[in-house]
Amino acid sequence: MDYQRHFQSAIDALHVEKRYRVFANLERIVGRFPVALWRDGEATREITVWCSNDYLGMGQHADVISAMCETASAMGSGAGGTRNISGTNHPLVELERELADLHGKEAALVFTSGFVSNEAAISTIAKLLPDCLILSDELNHASMIEGVRKSGSKKQIFRHNDLAHLEELLAAAEPNRPKLIVFESVYSMDGDIAPIEAIADLAERYNAMTYIDEVHAVGMYGARGGGITERDGVANRIDVIEGTLAKAFGVLGGYIAGSKALIDAVRSYAPGFIFTTALPPALAAAATASIRHLKRSQSERDAQQRQAARTKSVFAAVNLPVMPSDTHIVPVLVGDADLCKKASDRLLQVHGIYIQPINYPTVPRGTERLRITPTPFHSDALIDTLKDALIETWTTLGIAFASERPAQVERSAAITPLVVSQAGG
Ligand SMILES: *Cc1c(COP(=O)(O)O)cnc(C)c1O
Repeated sequence: MDYQRHFQSAIDALHVEKRYRVFANLERIVGRFPVALWRDGEATREITVWCSNDYLGMGQHADVISAMCETASAMGSGAGGTRNISGTNHPLVELERELADLHGKEAALVFTSGFVSNEAAISTIAKLLPDCLILSDELNHASMIEGVRKSGSKKQIFRHNDLAHLEELLAAAEPNRPKLIVFESVYSMDGDIAPIEAIADLAERYNAMTYIDEVHAVGMYGARGGGITERDGVANRIDVIEGTLAKAFGVLGGYIAGSKALIDAVRSYAPGFIFTTALPPALAAAATASIRHLKRSQSERDAQQRQAARTKSVFAAVNLPVMPSDTHIVPVLVGDADLCKKASDRLLQVHGIYIQPINYPTVPRGTERLRITPTPFHSDALIDTLKDALIETWTTLGIAFASERPAQVERSAAITPLVVSQAGG
């Protein structure tokens, strides 16, 4: 048995499909967001990052950094063990209170990442319900798909944001059977938003539970950064709200918020919570500082929305194929894996602009794209520089501009119905 040959041929297959991934070697610089150093072999260059999920630059906020440093100095680097074995560090208790308050829920539970929170919570909730039926949006993130899979429960996938399809599946199910609807608020590759209130109405009518992933919305939407559920005033109609501390909050970790009994049950039964070392106190304190800041401060949210809207309109004005998006996410369609990678490489090498290519399986084939995330720190001048770089790249590589495409490609779901996508986050 030649083990190495099997690994190598798995890698070769990715090269053939033009979706072998290379990670840029970057070093971010506090105070200069979105500028970073890029190490290309021996050379080091300053580049501009346009695809960070540190959506508001909170990872460099002075309050967040000092909370992290002070707590590490006072309490040490690690958590010292699982919460089961070693107890809970006090900053984690404060963080969970902060999160429960953020979403107006009785309780919250922190995990080591958003991925782990989805996998552990969805699987545990569904397992605890007898013969649970899970109804899952077709574009749900890989971490939710893992949770559904691990639960061992029967699942049905509804077409993306399709209320009629969801209702059809709910109506066909046994009325007394426990049902769990799992979906996201902001879908991160297309930047569209779920009809949350209408889904809550259906859940009520058919007596289903609701679980929402607000990873791409917390910190950024709602008057206190409680996400789309806060913005739309529907948080109280959703049973479980899941989020990350690693994107707009700029730190690391994931969580769920919900009723006392549900949170206590997940705490008590989820292996992905019980058997792994807790988030270190310094990270918990940093996340709390970030959440507290964004609860009070609207200026980051306003600036992010302004710069995202400006990016979209500047691109549209010069015929770049910007895809429809209702949020801060600005996807620009390439439509080919090889060209997408080449565009990304050229932007970095020629223009000093870093935008990771988004290829299959993160998005359906034929919808390969550059996913651009303007932040409050991407000035008007940077947007104009990016626009010029994209025009040069599109022209040089022969990528189709908007007017050269047969019909504007709509969202992922319209292209490949019922594809099980694995958003790369
Ligand atoms: C990134 C992402 C996650 C995972 O969050 P992490 O904290 O990065 O592990 C979960 N859901 C969605 C939709 C994501 O994009």
